[in-house]
Amino acid sequence: MLPLDPQADIGRRAWVTCPNCADHRGCATCEQRRRCSRHWRYLLTNTGSLLHLQCPSCRHVWDHETGFGATRTRWTRRNSGLRPQ
Ligand SMILES: [Zn+2]
Ligand SMILES: [Zn+2]
Repeated sequence: MLPLDPQADIGRRAWVTCPNCADHRGCATCEQRRRCSRHWRYLLTNTGSLLHLQCPSCRHVWDHETGFGATRTRWTRRNSGLRPQ
């Protein structure tokens, strides 16, 4: 398991499902697409609409394209899978 990134800050969280452990599965709060108190990711950095995330459950690190950047096309925005809050 990877160590927790030194940039991980509990004050900066993102509600994105983890592609590695998918720990949100079976969680009623997540299924309602609400901000779950248990299933969130550390937001390490972000560049425009690209989020660099780490999962606190399995320590998986990945990039998530939110599609909300100004340079993105409508097509990617609609298909990004990010849930606006
Ligand atoms: Zn995970
Ligand atoms: Zn949850």
